[in-house]
Amino acid sequence: MRALVIDDSKTIRLILSKILKGLGYTVSEASNGQEALDRLECDGPADLALVDWNMPVMNGLEFVRAARADDANAGMCLMMVTTEVEQEQMVRALVAGANEYVTKPFTPEVIVEKLRFLGLAGEAQ
Ligand SMILES: [Mg+2]
Repeated sequence: MRALVIDDSKTIRLILSKILKGLGYTVSEASNGQEALDRLECDGPADLALVDWNMPVMNGLEFVRAARADDANAGMCLMMVTTEVEQEQMVRALVAGANEYVTKPFTPEVIVEKLRFLGLAGEAQ
């Protein structure tokens, strides 16, 4: 299973990568949406992407739209992990094609629980 962690915070990327590696994922990281698209282009589709909203160059919502516009990513689960807590923002992300929505601050347990619900928590833990 391959996962992409997209966040402009190196600390957040580190925390999320660690959680996903613990679940058996091979993890790539990107610091904005454009970098993530480049990575997908280069490495092929991922099974899962954890997507921050507020990032420079290309934000998370733009990334979700761009990723969903490409059939190659049809099987990729997109989970927003963001400080945007407005219901309206959540709806925008889901309409754009996000599968799940987690607000920061998060605990590792919440991330794992959401992934388990999506059938993406693997065999570990
Ligand atoms: Mg950010």
